[in-house]
Amino acid sequence: MDLYEYQARDMFEKHGVPVLPGIVAETPAEAKAAAEQLGGGTVVVKAQVKTGGRGKAGGVKLAHSPEEAEAAAQAILGMDIKGHTVHRVMIAAGAKIAEEFYFSVLLDRAERRYLAMCSVEGGVEIEQLAVERPEALARVAVDPLTGIDAAKAQEIVEAASFPSDLQGPVADVIQKLWTVYANEDATLVEVNPLVRTEDGQVIALDGKVSLDENAGFRHEDHEALEDKAAADPLEAKAKALDLNYVKLDGSVGIIGNGAGLVMSTLDVVAYAGQAHGGVKPANFLDIGGGASAAVMANGLDVILNDPQVKSVFVNVFGGITSCIEVANGIVGALEQLGDEATKPLVVRLDGNSVEEGREILAAADHPLVTIVETMDGAAAKAAELANA
Ligand code: GDP
Ligand code: MN
Repeated sequence: MDLYEYQARDMFEKHGVPVLPGIVAETPAEAKAAAEQLGGGTVVVKAQVKTGGRGKAGGVKLAHSPEEAEAAAQAILGMDIKGHTVHRVMIAAGAKIAEEFYFSVLLDRAERRYLAMCSVEGGVEIEQLAVERPEALARVAVDPLTGIDAAKAQEIVEAASFPSDLQGPVADVIQKLWTVYANEDATLVEVNPLVRTEDGQVIALDGKVSLDENAGFRHEDHEALEDKAAADPLEAKAKALDLNYVKLDGSVGIIGNGAGLVMSTLDVVAYAGQAHGGVKPANFLDIGGGASAAVMANGLDVILNDPQVKSVFVNVFGGITSCIEVANGIVGALEQLGDEATKPLVVRLDGNSVEEGREILAAADHPLVTIVETMDGAAAKAAELANA
């Protein structure tokens, strides 16, 4: 889960990272009031969207009075930044920036450790810097067992060639950012820019934090950070039903049991789709190992409600769940949905009680259901139906 900048700011503050005061506003009037609350002087009005490059897109504006803050908020609210509509702005106290730096720490899956990146050339698009002048971006491996202690922080600031008078203060902030990373179970903490102000303070002026949702059970406060209004309604519904569902862009709905089977089903459908106008999977839905008929029905309900879905491929290998349960789930779900079910279903069953499962489907003889015995054959049929 990615956080908004204002949420990252609050989290930084909680762990002692130096930040400037910031207040969220949803209307120009609230923005004006926030600027007054911050003392009536210079503030920065910043679009709150989960994408970078807000500055370039005109989503970060300096305002020298509460009236200017109101006007800036008026201009920014409702703006579209890379497909994200701005619903909120943060009014942040203005900083007198002397220099802009870059720091991030992230999970390096391939190396099974963390990676810290740091540069004395921040503020700019870091991807561009990494490509054009890779030597200007220090990369330092971080051992998960020791994390970023004082010695590692010193190694990072030296690798990034900070001048000696700045090494101490920057290393101190880096260690605090590591506390955010470790204590909040983040997979990314990025600060761009980390600044030195004219009066010599080192401050995190922008923050990007991604939290590991698998660690959510350890953090009761993380759930409140979720932007429920922005979540895909079908994903929210699936989550409420305890289904592992991910929305994708294609038109073949997929239901399977077990993540491995579902993933290979995605591949098989994408491959089969090449012969049928390039159709692709519309989602990933894993009903899990011991799924009951009710779970099957919930899964179908979610997928059939996705307007992008043109056909559905149910691919189940009966193990703990017998194919009898699955077949009953499909028949029951279709009965429940009645006339609302209008999309063709291709079903491939195998494994535990496969014959009985197929018999149940054959006996129900639902006009929307096609039984195909092999996975490849079923994928091809589902792709063909989606392209019809
Ligand atoms: P991003 O473009 O989405 O990464 O948004 P940032 O929060 O990084 O802001 C973009 C740029 O706006 C920064 O690199 C700064 O140069 C500038 N900026 C942000 N906050 C302030 C501030 O308080 N004072 C001044 N003078 N500039 C700021
Ligand atoms: Mn930034």
